[in-house]
Amino acid sequence: MTLFRRTAISLARGPYARRSYTNAVAASNFTINGDRLWNDIHETAKWSAPSPGGVTRLCADENDKMVRDWFRDQVLALGGNYKVNATGTQFATFDGADNSIPPIAMGSHLDTVATGGMFDGALGVIGALEVMRSMKEQNVKTNAPICLINWTNEEGARFFPLLGSSLVYAGKSTVEEAHASLSTDNRGLTLGGELAKIGYVGDGPNTFEEFPISAHFEIHVEQHTDLEKAGKPVGWVTGWNGMTWYEVIFHGDDGHANTKSMWAKLISEIESLAYDFGGDTTTTGLHSHPFGSCNIQSRTKVVFCLMHAEKEGLENMGDEIEKRIKSIAGQRGLDYDLERTIHLPPGDFWPEAVDCVKRACGDKGIASKTRTGHDSTMTTTIVPTAMVFARAKDGISHSAKEWTSKEDCAESALVLGKAVLDYDMILKQKMASL
Ligand SMILES: [Zn+2]
Repeated sequence: MTLFRRTAISLARGPYARRSYTNAVAASNFTINGDRLWNDIHETAKWSAPSPGGVTRLCADENDKMVRDWFRDQVLALGGNYKVNATGTQFATFDGADNSIPPIAMGSHLDTVATGGMFDGALGVIGALEVMRSMKEQNVKTNAPICLINWTNEEGARFFPLLGSSLVYAGKSTVEEAHASLSTDNRGLTLGGELAKIGYVGDGPNTFEEFPISAHFEIHVEQHTDLEKAGKPVGWVTGWNGMTWYEVIFHGDDGHANTKSMWAKLISEIESLAYDFGGDTTTTGLHSHPFGSCNIQSRTKVVFCLMHAEKEGLENMGDEIEKRIKSIAGQRGLDYDLERTIHLPPGDFWPEAVDCVKRACGDKGIASKTRTGHDSTMTTTIVPTAMVFARAKDGISHSAKEWTSKEDCAESALVLGKAVLDYDMILKQKMASL
């Protein structure tokens, strides 16, 4: 399927002209409580399977339920209008002065991969919560309503595909398809079944059509070292690198181990592809059958992804690896099934939203680009979207080694809040001129 094609359905109609806005008074005086944010990031990290120093909170597991319940309690305490949709995504909407305008959203995810850390995803959701708490405390009123979102199954670690719920929201998939997503542990569990077990199949809105937002802003740890190298705590994200996921299943004959030589050529070909094309590649899964140490594996599934900054480069990598797979299968006398499961061409976020983040960063930030997909790379297909990056030590994520300092977490939340206030002002002016 081809995902992520931009369709310009947006409330923010009309040409976007770069204007010399300074932040509104509310934005320039806005502060956030960095201690509270830091404490909550650490407090919620306890909802994890055993994972020394890290967080293992797979989508729709018991720990995911606990952190979701916590998030629900926090937003209800703040007076949010709370809803859960059929794919488990939590929305909390807070009134603005004009509730006829679709809310400005701040969202990210509370699920992690199996070897996750404390910051990937959690900083985005808890940072958004901190912004909302601080707005309430400081009596900062927005014109548009504000919506906090905890998107379900961003990681795709337990159920593939990733971005499970934001895909549905953006109209690229359906609730039925998301519910049918199978668990990657080969136990035959489904996302729908597991969400039902933790009580998170709700009757809230599933799609943009049912519940439009005006814009989407997301804090995320950088997952790269541009900010660290520049000595900057935050960044505005201009766009993303393209990526393509493949699954290939080779079918051969069963046999006894040791009685024939075997080779694993594809893995080395995937690696060399990155060097040949100036991109990146990762083999993310190897599943072979039949189980047992004395068998030649007659069915082997290889899951891998290709990344490239340029659209053409990504397509060339895809064409080349398909040729190499065909050649390997031919040489070894194997049949194969090849499926391109996700294809995200590189792209840019919306300048009108990115500029709000840029202004909010001021001289504390630089421009950066994300190497991977986020819920924001899905919302950007339908509404103005931008991301705030927070400096990540050594650019490491999906690891217990993830680290973003307390000060940098706080700075990123401050940028998020200021960017949203700035966007709210732009939106108000646009509405007035309609
Ligand atoms: Zn993430």
